[in-house]
Amino acid sequence: MSAVLEAEGLQTYYGKSHILHGVSLKVNQGELIALLGRNGAGKTTTMRSVMGLTPPRDGNIKLFGKDVTRAASHRIANAGVGYVPEGRKIFGHMTVHENLLVPPETKGPWTIETIYKLFPRLEERKTSKGGRLSGGEQEMLAIARALLLNPKFLILDEPSQGLAPVIVQEVMRTIGRMKGEGMSILLVEQNAHLALQLADRAYVLSDGEVVYDGSAAELGADTERMEHLAGVS
Ligand code: ATP
Repeated sequence: MSAVLEAEGLQTYYGKSHILHGVSLKVNQGELIALLGRNGAGKTTTMRSVMGLTPPRDGNIKLFGKDVTRAASHRIANAGVGYVPEGRKIFGHMTVHENLLVPPETKGPWTIETIYKLFPRLEERKTSKGGRLSGGEQEMLAIARALLLNPKFLILDEPSQGLAPVIVQEVMRTIGRMKGEGMSILLVEQNAHLALQLADRAYVLSDGEVVYDGSAAELGADTERMEHLAGVS
């Protein structure tokens, strides 16, 4: 199996604060990997390190087999990594369809037509302004926009945050369908239960260190261990 992401021994700081203490993780082609951990464990910092937004001081990062440690973030995005950060930054004054016209056209399976097949709800709402969408619809729009760039690997930062439980289920089902289409995905979540139902493997971070690296099903079945490591929401 070829790896899309291999991060080894990441040491990342914000100024003098040492946040990541040797984080290593790997995502193979076609895998859905959950990155879990309590508030402040270092999940977002790990993503920012990978994306070149807060480059690590030590350690190395390979994407699709090539070293990109400390590469500029636009180079990482251009290499084929889609990043949907926390907080769904969609354009509220533009319609759903207009939001989907923003990304430049790229070659690959994802076009506005195939996006509407994956997200029928977005097609129903195509003339609604982004700002009038529900939280779940906004999350789907943010994911759809990232997909239109035809990434080879998608990183999702807490897509369930702030959503009602039924909507979370719908967003998670959509993520499952993207995996079904062959997408490699790193899913950063505080909602460990749901993420573990979808993921192949999981990593749990605590205080900037990996404290679990293994099967998602095994961790999902061991409620006590999961509560201890990741907290449960
Ligand atoms: P959350 O779910 O709250 O986003 P997280 O696991 O993603 O949690 P990070 O956001 O990576 O955690 O934060 C890890 C640690 O880094 C926390 O202690 C946080 O206070 C600290 N931190 C985050 N951003 C900064 C910053 N810009 N400057 C200094 N410290 C920061």
